[in-house]
Amino acid sequence: MPQTLIGTEMQTRTQETYLKDIYDFLEPEILVVCPKCHRKASIKTGKFSVAVFSAEDLKLVCTDCGYNKKLSEKAKLFSNASTDVNCSTGRSFTVGNGKDPFFDCELWLTKPCAENNLWAYNYEHLDFLYDHVRATLRERNAEAPRNRSLGSRLPKWMTSRKNRDSLLKCIADLKERQ
Ligand SMILES: [Zn+2]
Repeated sequence: MPQTLIGTEMQTRTQETYLKDIYDFLEPEILVVCPKCHRKASIKTGKFSVAVFSAEDLKLVCTDCGYNKKLSEKAKLFSNASTDVNCSTGRSFTVGNGKDPFFDCELWLTKPCAENNLWAYNYEHLDFLYDHVRATLRERNAEAPRNRSLGSRLPKWMTSRKNRDSLLKCIADLKERQ
């Protein structure tokens, strides 16, 4: 049965726009820490539409230890569901809290950075962050209008000039994390 992907703690218009970008990075896979062996595992999300998709078929797979679990085998409600919006079938998905939205696992690509928590769903997401942090800085340096920039939709701490160097370094570090 199709489900609606909803739920976020973010409120402002800018951040909502950023979330639309985040949705694009939920596919084709989300890299997480394996619940069993703590090495890199993957949630195969395949191709799904953001508005309507069947989540029950989503699978968490670890090629190291063989862990393999479908979302349909997981308990219906997440422990932090009180802060989320529940969809009609009793599941809720939180996007934008630094964990994977489906199994609630720690992400593989995450790292403390500039007194915040840098995280990405996969390497494409990291590339996006890297490119747009740099693009935003270029625009700011040139004092050009930046409202068209995807980078302007990033959280403030990610576009702050004082965090520039450490952020780019953190992203580069995570890109090396295979
Ligand atoms: Zn494993």
